[in-house]
Amino acid sequence: MLRRPPPASDREAFLRLSRQRQEDTRPERLVRRLLAGLGHRFRLHNRDLPGSPDCANRTRRWVVFVHGCYWHHHPGCPRATVPKRNRAWWKEKFRDNRRRDARVAAALATDGYRVVTIWECECEDVVTLQKRLRHELPRPPARGRRSVDEKRARRPRRHA
Ligand SMILES: [Zn+2]
Repeated sequence: MLRRPPPASDREAFLRLSRQRQEDTRPERLVRRLLAGLGHRFRLHNRDLPGSPDCANRTRRWVVFVHGCYWHHHPGCPRATVPKRNRAWWKEKFRDNRRRDARVAAALATDGYRVVTIWECECEDVVTLQKRLRHELPRPPARGRRSVDEKRARRPRRHA
């Protein structure tokens, strides 16, 4: 959360980065594709859950966040740089982002959710990423997609 606006000299950099964050959804699309390929069903950006997870299945109680390494300041990652100018302000901003992520993950875990955080840089290695998703998420129901759809057709629509 922003405590104060960015220093005037950094406003341009701030806006540029904000735009970049909104436009660069490639890692998110990859993760969705992998999850669907593993047979998972999920909702996107579920605002009913803390932190509006990128992908979530409430019934099976798991969420996946896809984090940009820069904004969420991936520890030890070369992409998690700090601008040279107004360094202290940026450091505080990134620290706040990390704290918020930790609070969100803790709240979800308390509610019994399995929380998986995928970093943008992990999306470079699709095979390893797919393995990780397979291991860290509960197995999707063995029933095929069709039987789930049939069940849905008979019952009133419910949240995933
Ligand atoms: Zn990273």
